[in-house]
Amino acid sequence: MRSDLRSLEGYHSPQLEVEVRLNTNEAPVGPPTAFVEAYTAAVSEIEWHRYPDREARALREAIAAMHDVEPAQILVANGSNEILQTICLTFAGAGRSVMTFEPTYAMHGQIARTTQCEVVEIDRGEGFVLDPGVLGDALADRKPNVVFLCSPNNPTGTAETLQNVELAVASTSGVVVVDEAYAQFASFSALDVLERRGGAEADVAMLVTRTFSKTWSMAGTRLGYVVGPSWMITEMEKVLLPYHLDSAKQLAGTIALDFQDEMNERVASIIEQRGRVSAALLSLGVEVWPSQSNFILFCTSPTGQTGDEVWQALVDRSVLVRNCSSWPRLSDCLRVTVGSPADNDRFIQALTDVLSAHS
Ligand code: PMP
Repeated sequence: MRSDLRSLEGYHSPQLEVEVRLNTNEAPVGPPTAFVEAYTAAVSEIEWHRYPDREARALREAIAAMHDVEPAQILVANGSNEILQTICLTFAGAGRSVMTFEPTYAMHGQIARTTQCEVVEIDRGEGFVLDPGVLGDALADRKPNVVFLCSPNNPTGTAETLQNVELAVASTSGVVVVDEAYAQFASFSALDVLERRGGAEADVAMLVTRTFSKTWSMAGTRLGYVVGPSWMITEMEKVLLPYHLDSAKQLAGTIALDFQDEMNERVASIIEQRGRVSAALLSLGVEVWPSQSNFILFCTSPTGQTGDEVWQALVDRSVLVRNCSSWPRLSDCLRVTVGSPADNDRFIQALTDVLSAHS
């Protein structure tokens, strides 16, 4: 056993049997029925005795067309977590370092550690907004090989700024990764920066990661991708295992992209619901961070109850949210996924009961 792994804990989100599950930022409903029908028909045509298309050409072409970039700028893997791991293996690894701005998605540090990178954690500071001065100084002082930005950031829900992404790119000779797992819910995307810097031929080491798990309602299929300059994609391809992406998954992703209008409608409805849940949270007197994502972070301490108490009382009412209370910098914080209108009603009602029972 590697001694560095022995001290490392796994990353888990406890799953409990509850009626309302708002703890893992999934989409509240599955993909459209027409998608399921088209996918089922396509799967029946698969030549199961053959390996899949190693380069996943059809899927890469479809993703590239959606973003108006070259297929050679796309790499697809089993969830964006596998993309993040591939990035660490290609550009960091033993003897090299990765920088994160905390609090952020815990898997950035976790994947970096399991791939033997040194992790340099920098505090975001006030309101969890990353100050450009802090960003610029950290990059200049610590010179990481890979920098993880997360926009919108999990678990705070706040989006990164154009200024910070450009500053990061200008201030490091390492790779700037912008994790955009929730980008469709936000008004900013770093893809524009990449495009402006030359797209396929970009002279900057910058990568933008995306997932099918959220907007595309496909967390069950594990599909994510990265957009970057083609020369970086070529290097990352060396790290992937042969035929890493099975035939059924390639079809699922390609067919899903035929349903963009439906997905955009779903995003619009989640954004609307997010406004409703945020307003309810504010009226209940908890501290709320402004979210540009499909989840909202809030802190229970202004109400006199701990995050653990509120989390348990919600579970007692069959509502599961993410308990971030024991995470560094997040005492008494809970994160709720924006769900269906009915699930959001249940959450708001349960929280109202919990907080009023205490007052
Ligand atoms: N990045 C962020 C910021 C996330 O929150 C998640 C999922 N929780 C992921 C990446 C991983 O997504 P997946 O592996 O499902 O594509």
